[in-house]
Amino acid sequence: MPRTFPFLLAALLTVAPAFAKVQVVTSLQDFASIADAVGGQRVEAFALAKGYQDPHFVEPKPSFILKLSRADLLIVAGLELEIGYLPPLIDQSRNGKIRPGGPGYLDASSGCDILERPTGTVTRAMGDVHPFGNPHYWLDPQNGRVIARAIAARLAKLDPAGSAEYAANLAAFEAKLAEGEKRWEAALAPYAGTEVVTYHNSWPNFLKRFKLVAAGFVEPKPGVPPSPAHTVELIDMMRERKIPVILIEPYFDRRTPSRIAEKTGADLLVFVPSVGGVPEAKDYVSLFDYDVERLAAALRAKRAVAP
Ligand SMILES: [Zn+2]
Repeated sequence: MPRTFPFLLAALLTVAPAFAKVQVVTSLQDFASIADAVGGQRVEAFALAKGYQDPHFVEPKPSFILKLSRADLLIVAGLELEIGYLPPLIDQSRNGKIRPGGPGYLDASSGCDILERPTGTVTRAMGDVHPFGNPHYWLDPQNGRVIARAIAARLAKLDPAGSAEYAANLAAFEAKLAEGEKRWEAALAPYAGTEVVTYHNSWPNFLKRFKLVAAGFVEPKPGVPPSPAHTVELIDMMRERKIPVILIEPYFDRRTPSRIAEKTGADLLVFVPSVGGVPEAKDYVSLFDYDVERLAAALRAKRAVAP
């Protein structure tokens, strides 16, 4: 024992970092995954919303306030995605650093390609939960790249000693992402121009990037549950245009979309919009691998049986 103890101690000292990790809290697991990739050993990231939850409607927990009170950096999607739960939590955390405009507040949407920005006066007519443009923009890997760069820059500001490490991690992440983009584009290229229906309007960035088209939505408006009249119209349109698949996020009720799929012959495909939505989508890159493989397989199968 007297001989091994110093060695053990030395081993522990080499493993344990000699600095306090930067505490990052994110609204989405996607941002936590990117922060982990860019921050590496120097960062500890925690996501408030899990990938299998509707990111618009997150149930606040007391533990979130504690996490926020200790955070050095808060990363949000912005565009009011978090409006329903986050502002009171920030207030209760009494952490001035992470208030909007503070040094520890990062709105990941800045610099990203944001679609469906309103041109006129913004109203919340009929409960539309996308009043300032589509907040699901992380589903284009190019936006993921922009977000990673913003996170790396902010981490370097908050923790200048880690600058070189953040730059190296960012380069590695971007290389992995670029390889992924080639893979995903190749897998979906045969289906360019294909029209799909999605439950919620979560996928405009994803569809644009991979040259697919949203022909309609099961929800009459984002955040509004399906109505009988809208469903009848959707079924007619899908039959006429031979829409092959309906994509549904994992957290919505499947009864109406299942009925629509039955009546139109379309496939109902559970499509994961965030890291952690299924165990296979364990990080930002494997999220796209999972979705793209499943969508390409579904479209291939449909094409094989098409008349
Ligand atoms: Zn939405």
